[in-house]
Amino acid sequence: MDDRTFRNAMGKFATGVTIITTAVDRDVHGMTANAFMSVSLNPRLVLISIGEKAKMLEKLNQSDAFAVNILSEDQKELSMQFAGQIQKKRKVTFEWLHGIPILNGALANIVCHVYSKQLAGDHTLFIGEVIDVAVREGTPLTFFAGKYGKIANI
Ligand code: FAD
Repeated sequence: MDDRTFRNAMGKFATGVTIITTAVDRDVHGMTANAFMSVSLNPRLVLISIGEKAKMLEKLNQSDAFAVNILSEDQKELSMQFAGQIQKKRKVTFEWLHGIPILNGALANIVCHVYSKQLAGDHTLFIGEVIDVAVREGTPLTFFAGKYGKIANI
């Protein structure tokens, strides 16, 4: 198969959308990501996958901590901003939980310390041990076949 066929096949997996946030010396960096999954209940572990070209990789190597902010359907613009997809950027205010920056308005903020990491091809898999969560009501932003969407029937 060629790369396009592989990407098309992967795009058939509908996901939510997250923004990963971290900070080095209180300087916050965020990045849109949908490669996120829950891994283990005991201990509580989650996984994210970060591309070798992403600035986020070096930030995470330095901070050893991150938050996964699961976006609500009204946070599409924020997702585009943190994916570098829009020119017009707005100033984003972060809250802090256990010294880790989190985003207001997300459906969930999952705050983690890096538990382990594994190089996998051109990405690095970070497993995070969850130290705290915050949850709110709402409906999710979705991503399917390269397009944002929302869930119609919830
Ligand atoms: P940059 O490209 O420099 O930053 C990203 C953007 O975030 C910039 O526009 C920057 O202005 C903004 N930003 C960063 N920090 C702040 C701040 N403190 N305040 C305001 N704005 C800020 N890539 C992966 O590696 N793994 C994935 O799982 C993944 N999933 C994706 C899912 C979707 C739906 C999309 C659209 C993209 C995904 N990407 C993923 C691609 C990734 O989001 C982009 O390549 C991104 O640009 C990489 O960010 P960076 O760390 O290199 O930083």
